[in-house]
Amino acid sequence: MKVFKFGGASVKDADGVKNLASVVKRYDSEKLIIVVSAMGKTTNALERLTQAFFYKKENPETVLNEIREYHLNIMNGLFTNSDHPVYDDVHNTLVELEWAIEDEPTHSYDCEYDQIVSVGEIISTKIVAAYLQECGFSCAWKDVRDYLKTDNTYREGKVDWDLTGKRITTDLLPVFSSTDIVITQGFIGVTSENFTTTLGREGSDYTAAIFAFCTNADSLTIWKDVTGVLNADPKWFDDTRLIPQMTYQDAIELTYYGATVIHPKTIKPLQNKNIPLLVRSFINPDQEGTRIHNVQTPLPVPCFIFKINQVLISISPRDFSFIVEENISSIFSLFSRHRVKVNTMQNSAISLSICVDDDPLKLPELLKDLQKQYRVLYNDQLELVTIRYYDQATIDRVTTGKNILLEVKSRYTAQLVMKNA
Ligand code: ASP
Ligand code: MG
Repeated sequence: MKVFKFGGASVKDADGVKNLASVVKRYDSEKLIIVVSAMGKTTNALERLTQAFFYKKENPETVLNEIREYHLNIMNGLFTNSDHPVYDDVHNTLVELEWAIEDEPTHSYDCEYDQIVSVGEIISTKIVAAYLQECGFSCAWKDVRDYLKTDNTYREGKVDWDLTGKRITTDLLPVFSSTDIVITQGFIGVTSENFTTTLGREGSDYTAAIFAFCTNADSLTIWKDVTGVLNADPKWFDDTRLIPQMTYQDAIELTYYGATVIHPKTIKPLQNKNIPLLVRSFINPDQEGTRIHNVQTPLPVPCFIFKINQVLISISPRDFSFIVEENISSIFSLFSRHRVKVNTMQNSAISLSICVDDDPLKLPELLKDLQKQYRVLYNDQLELVTIRYYDQATIDRVTTGKNILLEVKSRYTAQLVMKNA
């Protein structure tokens, strides 16, 4: 068994879906679980739809029509027969969504979000599966919610590994006696009460890793529009280099610090079962890409991760008392309650500095809560650069013309919070 994941960029138009089929064709004799994301920027459009529905900012109907048109266009590029049942199938899914947003919201924003946004993956997989069947592949469409069970943390569902593992073993694996390929949705799961959940933006990689773990797959391949994992995002650097292989540890460190090539939660399940992760190009499937596996080789070059829109919060007790365990613990419980992720931090005797993403939804609430107990200062519009396998020359390279507000170094990793000078 191999698990493949195709992201939104790989299926953004009819040619993308055709290309997916040609990549899959290369694996004729394999059993494949293929996890697919929503097409192109559909998830963003569905987020807009959720806001339109919940906050009445724009007309939901307009947004829904854009989504409908976009998918119709893709289907027209794939199916010559306009009576193909996939048209009805997609249409009905969108009609259900239309009905759902005609009523007033009845659940929390996050819950409504998951019910709406998940539709992107449902329709993308319907289209991809129908196309593969049309091309003659032995392929079944499966609703991931029959297998992937989570708690009810909407927008960040926590996986029930036991139940998910059991469902995959008892209900999914037998499907392969009559099919070679299973197409299913990334990013979504379901609660015990049958509400749809999502696993967090870009969570399809994680879904694929969950399937790889639960089926003891030979490997997981994430098909991307880049040649593999590069030592920096080409958006920021001209002379990037492909990293042919890396350890799970380097991969988890890089993704944790913000390398967007793979979702950070993807690595752990694979590492736990020693399943290799291949990051390869769907444009050039002849190239080997990057293999993340159980090797000892350190990275051949320093890796850079840039994050913009950073905020540095500095927190100190109002009475000049030390930042000690009790304070630290109360501060972190606030971060956890507001689901704000710490990108880097440093403490001194009387203050704790924490660098986070500037999230306009979560941050103001967190700051309000922190201010009840502490003196809080913050600085925004900052950049955070993380360098794995740094040396002074690489630090100098990224810090020229910048004021450094915070510098945190461990043996292999340096992090710098900076502002333009
Ligand atoms: N479609 C979802 C998103 O755009 C999940 C994914 O692409 O992995 O966030
Ligand atoms: Mg996506």
